[in-house]
Amino acid sequence: MNIILLAPPAAGKGTQAELLEKKYHLHHLSTGDLLRKSASREDDFGKKIKNILENGVLVSDEIIFQLLDNFMEENKNKNLLFDGFPRNIHQAKHLEKILNKKNDKLNFVFLLEVEKEILKKRITGRRCCKQCGSLYNINIESLKPKIESICDQCGGNLFQRSDDNEQSFETRYEEYLDKTSALIDYYQKKQLLYHIQADKSKEDVFQELSEIIEKERVL
Ligand SMILES: [Zn+2]
Repeated sequence: MNIILLAPPAAGKGTQAELLEKKYHLHHLSTGDLLRKSASREDDFGKKIKNILENGVLVSDEIIFQLLDNFMEENKNKNLLFDGFPRNIHQAKHLEKILNKKNDKLNFVFLLEVEKEILKKRITGRRCCKQCGSLYNINIESLKPKIESICDQCGGNLFQRSDDNEQSFETRYEEYLDKTSALIDYYQKKQLLYHIQADKSKEDVFQELSEIIEKERVL
């Protein structure tokens, strides 16, 4: 079984990925992690990647494909959960090709949907304790600190991370739409796309995902 997760920032993708991994014994494949891991190797490919990451250059599809091919070679017969990949149609087609080669296929593309205003509230309300790192959210009643700007745990001051502001949210959200709209069409046509209402509790979202997976597996 192979799954792709698509979601805007702050929609809870990481949490759902973790739950899916555990329940269905999936191997979580994050291209970001793969890049970092490869960069720590001493061979030519590792040095090339290290150089790209250090210079903040966009990673080409070819590099991503090479990473992916290596990964698939080392992880034959594993169930995979793709996170952050594919990013475009070219990559989506490549993925299909390598899965076909293994007589395997993509089973589900889950699109976690949360209204933009809710995502914005989640992100701009995030606060973090300077001393102990505890997380709060001033826009969500159950996650508010008892005293404004003060940590419940240790009394430390709370602060807002620089990229949790409205403007950087808008930029990230636009990037997300740009990147995923073509993929959404692509997978919709292939009848692999499932829209998931993700503005519920993480348990309820996971329940919905599980029901789809189990229903399709029985058929
Ligand atoms: Zn604290």
